[in-house]
Amino acid sequence: MAQVSLNNIRKIYPNGYEAVVPTSFDIADGEFVVLVGPSGCGKSTLLRMVAGLEDISEGALSIGDRNVNHVDPADRDIAMVFQNYALYPHMSVRKNIGYGLKNRKIPASEIEDKVQTAAKMLNLTEYLDRKPSQLSGGQRQRVAMGRAVVRDPALFLFDEPLSNLDAKLRHQMRIEIKALQRRLGVTSIYVTHDQVEAMTMADRIIVLNGGRIEQIGTPAEIYHQPASTFVASFMGAPPMNLIEREKRDGRVMVGDTVVATTDSSGPVIMGIRPEDIEIGPNCAIPFTVDIVEELGAHRLVHGQLDGQDLSVYVGKDVDVSTGPTRVSITPDAVVLFDAETGLAL
Ligand code: ADP
Repeated sequence: MAQVSLNNIRKIYPNGYEAVVPTSFDIADGEFVVLVGPSGCGKSTLLRMVAGLEDISEGALSIGDRNVNHVDPADRDIAMVFQNYALYPHMSVRKNIGYGLKNRKIPASEIEDKVQTAAKMLNLTEYLDRKPSQLSGGQRQRVAMGRAVVRDPALFLFDEPLSNLDAKLRHQMRIEIKALQRRLGVTSIYVTHDQVEAMTMADRIIVLNGGRIEQIGTPAEIYHQPASTFVASFMGAPPMNLIEREKRDGRVMVGDTVVATTDSSGPVIMGIRPEDIEIGPNCAIPFTVDIVEELGAHRLVHGQLDGQDLSVYVGKDVDVSTGPTRVSITPDAVVLFDAETGLAL
C-alpha cells in the first residue's frame, strides 16, 4: 500500500504536443481516485506515466516514499487492469491469474494458494480450468482483476476497465470493483470518461479538461460546488442548467426573484441542478414546458425560461403538461460563474 504523489508532472509528446500541463496532486494510502474527462483530455497519458508506460517529460512522481520517474514499470509495484482485459487466450483462467507470479519465480504451491484465494474472492473458483473464450465478459473482467489482486501491489491502475461491458454488467462490476478495493485497501487510480462511474466509485474525483485539472474533490463537492461551467456541464446527467443572467445592483435576478448576490463586475451564469427547481402554478417564475420525459421514478421536464433551455426533475406524482406554467428556484442551490472565464465565483 502506498501514497502517490505527482509533482508538476508534464507530458509533451515527441511531436511537440503538450498532452498534460504541469499537474500536481497527492493520493492518500488506500484512496480510490478517479480521473475523468472527455476523450483526449489526457487521462490515459497521466495514468500511463504513473504506470511507467510513457516517459514523464517534467516533474516528479513518487509511489510510497520512492521516486519512480526512472523505475521500470515491472519494478513500480503496481498492477494495471485494462479495458481489453489483455488475457492470454490459450491459457486457462488459473494460468492467466498466476502468470505474473510465475514470471517472478514464486514457488508453484504458493502461486496456487494465491490464485485460489483470488478466485474465491472473485467468484471464479469453478472456472479456473476454462479458457477466456469460455467466459462471459464480466467473468473475463474478473480474471483481469484476479491477475492484479494476486500480485498484492502497492497501487492498482484501471484504464477504462468496464467500457466493453453492457450497461447492466457495468453497473454490477462497478460495485464489485469498489467493494474489492475497499476490502483490500489498495490505493487506486481509475480512468474513465463515464461520469456515473466517477461519481459512484471515487473517494475523490479529478476532472480533467484539455490536459489540465479543472477540479479535485469528493463526488458531492464536484456535483454541488463545481469549480467551472465545464465541470457543471460534464458531471451529472442531465447536466446542471446554465443560464446567462443580468445583474441589478449586484443582485442576480430570475424574473422578480433574487436568486443570488455577487460583487463581481462582469456578466454571470447561474447554475442550478434540475432537482433544485420546483414546478407548479403557485411558483414565482414564468416557464414554458416543451417536452416531458417519463423516467418511471420521476419525470424530466424540458422547457424555456426567458428563452433559455431549462431542465427540471419532478416526482412521478407531479402532473406536468406542455405549455405555460411556473417554476421556483432554491437560492441555496444556485452556483454562480463568471460568464467570461467560466469559473465559479
Ligand atoms: P484520454 O485518455 O483522456 O482520451 P489521452 O491521454 O489518450 O486522452 O490523449 C491526450 C492527448 O494527447 C490527445 O489529444 C491525444 O491525441 C494526444 N496523444 C496521445 N498519444 C499521443 C502520441 N503518442 N503523440 C502525440 N499525441 C498524442
